[in-house]
Amino acid sequence: MLVTTPYRYLIGPGDDVGAELVDDLCRWHDRMVAHVRRHGASARCGCGDPDDCPRIEARELWHRARTEFGVDAAPLTFLRQHGGGDVHG
Ligand SMILES: [Zn+2]
Repeated sequence: MLVTTPYRYLIGPGDDVGAELVDDLCRWHDRMVAHVRRHGASARCGCGDPDDCPRIEARELWHRARTEFGVDAAPLTFLRQHGGGDVHG
């Protein structure tokens, strides 16, 4: 089965680290979409469960994506929006 995701284009040939990160991104993406649907999209998350909140994970993932993909991570607006990476430049 071929799964199309908005993150696949980031993986270069033989890029195992990138492939793993993209797997994490895809899993996170699904969780985040479900989370927003359930708890709303306001900046302060209403889930009340920081241990299991994908918004917390977004910060780490955004940092990893910037480290791994550099400027190629720029189009990941959904992640950036929740990871808050560019808020302070
Ligand atoms: Zn949450």
